[in-house]
Amino acid sequence: RAKADGRGTYRFFETGMDARAQARRLLEMDLRAAVQRDEFQAYYQPIRDVASGRVVAFEALLRWNHPQRGLIAPISFIPLAEETGLIVQLGEFVLRSACTDATSWPDDIDVAVNLSPVQFKSPNLIASVTSALAASGLSANRLELEITESVLLQNSEATLTTLHELRAMGVRISLDDFGTGYSSLSYLRSFPFDKIKIDRSFVSELATREDSMAIIRAVTGLGRSLGIVTTAEGVENDAQLELLRREGCTQAQGYLFSKPRPASDVAMMLERPRLRASA
Ligand code: C2E
Ligand code: MG
Ligand code: MG
Ligand code: MG
Repeated sequence: RAKADGRGTYRFFETGMDARAQARRLLEMDLRAAVQRDEFQAYYQPIRDVASGRVVAFEALLRWNHPQRGLIAPISFIPLAEETGLIVQLGEFVLRSACTDATSWPDDIDVAVNLSPVQFKSPNLIASVTSALAASGLSANRLELEITESVLLQNSEATLTTLHELRAMGVRISLDDFGTGYSSLSYLRSFPFDKIKIDRSFVSELATREDSMAIIRAVTGLGRSLGIVTTAEGVENDAQLELLRREGCTQAQGYLFSKPRPASDVAMMLERPRLRASA
């Protein structure tokens, strides 16, 4: 009897693992096919200057237009794309799309592209940035590359060399999701970032938590002293925007202005000062 139970449990467990592994294999196959089938699309979210209210940039955010499952957000496929290395191809696609799309925007509007730590380690990175700029004709100073602290974790010579090479090309470098994970002030000393993006977890609690307010104040102050632009992510209401303005945060991005939309909606996002998530 005990034996039968044990066996049953084991088989149940095995089946569970199997189902997960199989779902993963299916997603991986799907992901590979999707790259061939052109199912990926760059969406764009505006970033506004807090003082003037002007749109200064758009961040490219990857979407998967799945024939059966509809629009899929990056959280559902980027981790697997990173594990399988497919992120390198996807990253190149986003970079090319973003540079090409930005050439049809006004000259004073920049484009920001997220880089995965896996892309960063790939020996192709400099070449793919160079070729995306050359193929599109976009001026390097309109391109911002966003990296997270995890890229800097190893703090290797190679990472710093790559960052300096990109900078030398005229590309700007932003530190994304600042305040999460390993946030260390030494990162700001190891490389001269152009921009710090304050993670939206701090912004969402601005009005309700004193400590979030204190952290925002400290980071915007730091940015001012170091001559680094600060961008608040995830701004959803006027109260948050007002507090950020008071603290001298340079830029704001969030659903208050617009959620990410396809490239064909950029002109509309430039015209209308506010476009709520529901709009
Ligand atoms: P991220 O770079 O920090 O991008 C900001 C995320 O916050 C986006 O989620 C955006 O849609 C969301 N967001 C913006 N404003 C608001 C707001 O007011 N409220 C809320 N709740 N969310 C807001 P998304 O598009 O789902 O992307 C998630 C993450 O996936 C990105 O975080 C980035 O780390 C990664 N990602 C997106 N596109 C790419 C890509 O092309 N390459 C790589 N390597 N990573 C990407
Ligand atoms: Mg980003
Ligand atoms: Mg971010
Ligand atoms: Mg984030």
